Amino acid sequence: MLVCSRCGMEYPETFRLTCDCGGTLLVEREYYDFFGNLLPYLDMRRYLNFLPIGGNYLPPAIPAITPVGALQMGSVIALFKLEYLQPSGSFKDRGTYVTVAKLMEEGITEVVLDSSGNAALSMALYSLPAGITTHLFVSYDTMPGKLSLLAKLGAFIHFVDGDRMAVHERAVEFAESEGLTYVSHWLNPYFIEGTKTVAFEAYEQVGLPDYVLVPTGSGTLLLGLWKGFMELKRMGEIPELPRLIAVQASGYESLCKRSSEINGFADGIAIPEPPRVDEMRRALEETNGLCVSVTEKETEEAWDWLRRAGFLVEPTSAVVLSAMWKLVETGEIPDGSKVLLPLTGSGLKLTEGI
Ligand SMILES: [Zn+2]
Repeated sequence: MLVCSRCGMEYPETFRLTCDCGGTLLVEREYYDFFGNLLPYLDMRRYLNFLPIGGNYLPPAIPAITPVGALQMGSVIALFKLEYLQPSGSFKDRGTYVTVAKLMEEGITEVVLDSSGNAALSMALYSLPAGITTHLFVSYDTMPGKLSLLAKLGAFIHFVDGDRMAVHERAVEFAESEGLTYVSHWLNPYFIEGTKTVAFEAYEQVGLPDYVLVPTGSGTLLLGLWKGFMELKRMGEIPELPRLIAVQASGYESLCKRSSEINGFADGIAIPEPPRVDEMRRALEETNGLCVSVTEKETEEAWDWLRRAGFLVEPTSAVVLSAMWKLVETGEIPDGSKVLLPLTGSGLKLTEGI
C-alpha cells in the first residue's frame, strides 16, 4: 500500500503522486528472507521480489548492477559505487524502471514531465521501447545538445518562457487540460522503490558500510538508501542502519544551513525547496546522520581528483568525495571506517559548456 508521511492515510498501489492532504507517499510492504528471495538475474531484476511491480509488465530497458571500486584513502576505505554506468548514465534509471513498469501495468501510454536533466533522459530512454509517449517541459536555456538527444528518444519538447517554477506550472496545467499523467520523480513513490536497490546491491557487494554519503537535492537517492537499508534491517539482515550523510551544494541547502555562496557547478542538486524535505530530515535523524555543504571550488577539486583516478563523472557526483575529505579531516568519520560513495551521473554527457 501507499502511506502518507503526513497524515498516515493509506491508498492502494496505483500510480499516484501525493495524498489528498498534500503529503508525500511511500510504498509500505513487509519483506522476509532477503537472500532467499533474490532472483537469478545479474541486473536490477534480481530484486523484483522487493519491488511493488508484478513481473508481467517489465520495461525492455533494464538497469545494471553497478560495480564498486574500493580504494584505501588515508585512514578510511572509500567504496565508490559506479552508478554512472547505468544505461542512461545515471542512478535515475533505477527509479525510472519501477515507474515505467507501474505505468505499463496501468496501461498509461502518455506522460508529462518537467525536467531536462538526468531524470528526463532516463525517462525518455525507458519510455521509448515501452511505447510510452513523453512530453517534456523545459526552459529556453536548456542546452541544445541535450534537447536534440531527448528529441531523438521520441520526447515531445515544450518550451516555457520563465524559471523552473513556471516550467513546472505549465507542465501540470498541460497534463490536467489534456487528461495526461504528470510524472514527477521528486514526488513519485515508485521512483524511491527503484533507488532503494542501491542499498541492496551495495550490501551484497561489500556488506554493511559505516557511512553512506549521498548527493542530495530532491532527496530521491538519500530516501532510497534509507528505505533500502531500513528494509534490510526489518528483514533481520543488518543490526543497524549506516549513518547517512546528505551532501548539498552551497547556496541550495535544504537540510544544512543555507549559505550565501552559490555552488553552480553541482547543478544536479541545485534544488533549494525539495517537496520531501521532512522525510529527508527524518532519514538523517533515524540514522544519526548529518548534512554537509560543499562549495563550487571544493566540488571542482574533488571532480578533478575523481577524473585522475579513472572515474568519469559529472560534477554533481563529486560532492560526496569533497564531503568525505572534510569529515575525515575533522575526525567525524573515524579511522578504519567503510564509506560508501555512490557516483551518480556520467561525465560523458558533458559535451557542451565545460
Ligand atoms: Zn496525507
